[in-house]
Amino acid sequence: MCLFYLAKEIQLAKKNPGDILTSDWNPVVGCLRYSAGCRDCWWLDGIMPWQVRLGNLPSTVTEGMPTEIEARFDPAKLRTKKGIVGVVQHGDIFWDKVTDATIARVLDIVDQVAREREEKNARRPAGRLPDTTKYVLWTKRAERMADFMERRYPQGVPSYLACGVSVENQMLADDRLPHLLRVRGYRFVMIEPMLGPIDLSAYADVHWIVLGSETGTDRVRPLEPEWARQVRDFALAHHLPFFLKQVGSSHKNSVRMLDDRTWDEFPPGFVK
Ligand code: SF4
Repeated sequence: MCLFYLAKEIQLAKKNPGDILTSDWNPVVGCLRYSAGCRDCWWLDGIMPWQVRLGNLPSTVTEGMPTEIEARFDPAKLRTKKGIVGVVQHGDIFWDKVTDATIARVLDIVDQVAREREEKNARRPAGRLPDTTKYVLWTKRAERMADFMERRYPQGVPSYLACGVSVENQMLADDRLPHLLRVRGYRFVMIEPMLGPIDLSAYADVHWIVLGSETGTDRVRPLEPEWARQVRDFALAHHLPFFLKQVGSSHKNSVRMLDDRTWDEFPPGFVK
């Protein structure tokens, strides 16, 4: 991919109707490939080296070691972001190389900014719409997320936070989703890249299902529309909001239609 194209893609990313996020905030970056869906990680292979070349990330950022970007640990940086905000999208915050202290530092800022918004909402003049900003975390390291969130929020995860687990196939769904179900708060399943059929029958107790195909490389593993259809039908049968990011294999010309329509559903209170 040429750098110009990648730059344009990133500028457009948050305007992309196939993206569930309005914006993201990445005070920590970095990851290590972990399972099948990581083979062609968009961040490690594309954005990280490009951002290092541009000087937006330190040259010390490498695969396998998390990097904290001090200047981004600033509540003011998060205050500017509204809608649905991805927290630590450029990596996996629950990767074992990210310390508990660092995760807590990130969530301390999320909690502070979210509470400020709640206080502002409480003071807003009659008739003025509230700020409904949500903060979204998702991980492949589901067990650590569930353990961490239980310890941090023993009364339940605050309603401004949503916890997601990313799965690629049935084996990984069966491994990770039981941990997602332990999270007491908004729970969502992120099936991306979908690499095989997934039966979610045992995991209906979630609030949102998001699904997307693998895109962008010349060795892309294509999604069978029937796999997406089965998950969509499961969501419909269980009255769960379903967001289909895309089903095609190109991120230049994304294919978002399934059975003659797009599926852009969000849980109540999530406004992009
Ligand atoms: S967990 Fe996500 S960020 Fe980490 S290597 Fe895999 S795809 Fe990339």
